[in-house]
Amino acid sequence: MVTESLFEASSERLARALAHVAVSDDTLERLRLPKSVLKVSVPVRMDDGSLRTFPGYRVRYDDSRGPCKGGVRYHPDVNVDEVQSLAFWMTFKCAVLDLPFGGGKGGVTVDPKQLSQLELERLSRRYIDAIADFIGPDVDVLAPDVYTNQLVMGWMMDQYSTIRRQISPAVITGKPLSMGGSRGRDTATADGAFDVIETLLPKRYRGDGPPTVAVQGFGNAGATLASLLFDAGYRVVAVSDSKGGIHAPEGLHIPSVRKVKEEAAELEAVYCDGSVCDLVEHERLDAGELLELDVDVLVPAALENAVTEANAGAVGAKVVFEVANGPLTPQADDILADRGVWVVPDILTNAGGVTVSYFEWVQNRAGLYWSADEVRGRLRDRMTAQAERVWTIAEDGDMTLRTAAYVHALRRLGEAIDAKGSAETFRARR
Ligand code: NAD
Repeated sequence: MVTESLFEASSERLARALAHVAVSDDTLERLRLPKSVLKVSVPVRMDDGSLRTFPGYRVRYDDSRGPCKGGVRYHPDVNVDEVQSLAFWMTFKCAVLDLPFGGGKGGVTVDPKQLSQLELERLSRRYIDAIADFIGPDVDVLAPDVYTNQLVMGWMMDQYSTIRRQISPAVITGKPLSMGGSRGRDTATADGAFDVIETLLPKRYRGDGPPTVAVQGFGNAGATLASLLFDAGYRVVAVSDSKGGIHAPEGLHIPSVRKVKEEAAELEAVYCDGSVCDLVEHERLDAGELLELDVDVLVPAALENAVTEANAGAVGAKVVFEVANGPLTPQADDILADRGVWVVPDILTNAGGVTVSYFEWVQNRAGLYWSADEVRGRLRDRMTAQAERVWTIAEDGDMTLRTAAYVHALRRLGEAIDAKGSAETFRARR
């Protein structure tokens, strides 16, 4: 799981951005520490009648630009450092997309696979009991993350509404549609990543035919994005999951791969077994081999730290779009930059999810719900505009796209922090 390495990676990237942007000392001082960190115990009555308590956390890293926003993670490795790191990251992601939110994150140290459905429901409701005074539509807005989903969001929203004695859908996003969820939330991350690819790839890709793509991680985000790219005429030549990968230089038929995977539950079963092999010849890959394929575009959409100092030299792609959070270490970044590989960072590429979360919050507060087309159109406009801004900053400042994204976010954070008065303001008026 993500721990301090993520914080170190984010801090390192922030340090690199600081070389390119003048922000006030106040801004740096405000961003040095989280605004508040809440640690709670979550008592749960188990099915056998016993009582167990689980450690829980909620961190508000910075709210200079608006209420904090961030997911809730259920995992045995959750700890306060991890939650703090992820809240820091959310602060920058929301700023890149110009969402009126700061960064937050929460979690419970628990193995949800060991709980029954009823125990999971009690855990979710007791977590909200424990943090209810710390969150709210204008304070800190929750969302799904690792091992939390729509069902969990619905329980949490219901519990918060019970405590407040008023229906409060805007306290949490990623809810079921019937409880105030937004259309388009389930595919938002892939939709947003597709928009970023469509905006930025033409600035780099000079080939004649359709660009070739390899997707590492065929889950919610990766498989949906592979379908969107396939439908748009890209040649998706390889996909992988935790069991292994498949490769076909002439292109995979993604709808069939998805169908077979859904039926068989893993990609290994797709390999020369079932309908896909009838559609196109393909070879089997080890998970690591996919990263080395000579393709135009690599999409890491699985786990953090997939590309490190150890394997960055072997990456065969010309452009990398980071759909996973933190798939490249800072050392890998340097190696790829030296080799002329263009990396489009996670805080831009995968921000479609939090952007549609923002739309959900807006719809809840307005009480007016948008069509799928309206959500998609607004998402496209925002992703395209911010991708263009990041690209322009990178071009003008001769920096990587990642550094440009951090510069872009830092400027916005600095403006918000200084608007309340900076050292300069007060020195000038003394
Ligand atoms: P998921 O669990 O649905 O899918 C992850 C996929 O990665 C699975 O198919 C898994 O088998 C595969 N995988 C695991 N280890 C692998 C390996 N070593 N090699 C190849 N494949 C491997 O998760 P998801 O929701 O699609 O999220 C994927 C990444 O995108 C995560 O980093 C997540 O934080 C990030 N992300 C997701 C969203 C979202 O809305 N889903 C939003 C922002 C960021």
